[in-house]
Amino acid sequence: MTTKTLIIGGGIGGLAVALAFSRAGAPVELFERSPEFTEVGAGIQLGPNVVKVLHDWGLQEALAGVAAFPDRLQVRSAMSGHELGVLRLGAATLERYGSPYATIHRADLHHLLLTALKDESVQLTVNSSVERFVQQDTGVTLFTADGHEAQGDVLVGADGLWSQVRQQLLNDGAPRATGHLAYRAMVPQSSLPARLQSHQITVWLGPQLHVVQYPVRGGEWLNVVAIVHGRTEGDMAHWDHSANPAKLRSAMTATCAPLQDLIQAIESWRLWALSIRPPMRGAHEQAQGRVALLGDAAHPMLPYLAQGAGMAIEDAHCLARAVGTRGLDVPTALAQYAASRWQRNARVQAGAIRNGKIFHATGLVSWGRDAAMKLLGERLLDNPWLYRSQP
Ligand SMILES: Cc1cc2nc3c(=O)[nH]c(=O)nc-3n(C[C@H](O)[C@H](O)[C@H](O)COP(=O)(O)OP(=O)(O)OC[C@H]3O[C@@H](n4cnc5c(N)ncnc54)[C@H](O)[C@@H]3O)c2cc1C
Repeated sequence: MTTKTLIIGGGIGGLAVALAFSRAGAPVELFERSPEFTEVGAGIQLGPNVVKVLHDWGLQEALAGVAAFPDRLQVRSAMSGHELGVLRLGAATLERYGSPYATIHRADLHHLLLTALKDESVQLTVNSSVERFVQQDTGVTLFTADGHEAQGDVLVGADGLWSQVRQQLLNDGAPRATGHLAYRAMVPQSSLPARLQSHQITVWLGPQLHVVQYPVRGGEWLNVVAIVHGRTEGDMAHWDHSANPAKLRSAMTATCAPLQDLIQAIESWRLWALSIRPPMRGAHEQAQGRVALLGDAAHPMLPYLAQGAGMAIEDAHCLARAVGTRGLDVPTALAQYAASRWQRNARVQAGAIRNGKIFHATGLVSWGRDAAMKLLGERLLDNPWLYRSQP
């Protein structure tokens, strides 16, 4: 493939699409506004649909070296501590979907993609904030804040939730604050008392809150995310606020002792106010002409299906495949990419919103949820439409 590709953003989505294009032989130039390639200290779950793409890129061994592969996902009541349901992972996921379910430190996933890119002829530029682009019949030109310009055949906006590329392409305003706050922490398991150490995924459900914990770094660290309803002051666009643990603890006062023990045992938390857009309404939100959107730039979502980065990775795989298809001109290839992706992305966005309502249910609805989970167990917790579907 000789299509010159310009990528804006060096997060998980940007690095993934750089790898997908360069593996297909395309020349790639990537622009990242931060002074270096880094990721925040938080965990990420990767469903078997996502692990499959990473395996297809030859990253199986690298992933196995840094991820954890939990055997089960247990849902517990945040109030009583009782088990509500279990989804078998590990060998069961492998058997059902052909790839495992993984949990990983975001920085490890980012580093793994960056390392894979070292063997490719990709031009990575940091400290380079892209301000705008111009589409012509024959190509696309981008302009950076420090006065540089670059030309290519395709431009990929992988510039995240507050995407500049999206604003220029769709002009549809800013994402909407949800009033959900994510407190995130990561601790070495050895720093926790034995009763709090864990190698499974646990999801605790309570009224207007939920907590997810899972192992990362081969099980040596525990990642914990607590979601509560509330507001933050200050710059919402910035990911990484330092959090006041007292506020989190007070939001958890009605929860059961084992969950409060875990929250109390962790001293340092970061805070992220969750913002979203409505589920995608059409292919025009995924690509137009020579410009494609990918990952959070195209479809920011609540993390309640744990698939935001996953969909970015699937986007990357599909985009490189469409552009690499013989005989297609760039706008036709991008139209094909958009047609193949937007409905799935919209379904995941909508599913995450729905999960938020179920996870945080109160009163009779929460009673119904708990009863249904006990009755249906895995049938309710598994997502074959998501995990089986091939990008
Ligand atoms: C609490 C929480 C838990 C989550 N858990 C999961 C999970 O378990 N599984 C999962 O799959 N997903 C999860 N997600 C979602 C996931 O984090 C995101 O969907 C994913 O990181 C999006 O990646 P991205 O590359 O599209 O965007 P980003 O990670 O935001 O990267 C965008 C990049 O573009 C750069 N950039 C921005 N503007 C410019 C510009 N003008 N010029 C140059 N560079 C620019 C930024 O500096 C950044 O590096 C979670 C999210 C949250 C908040």
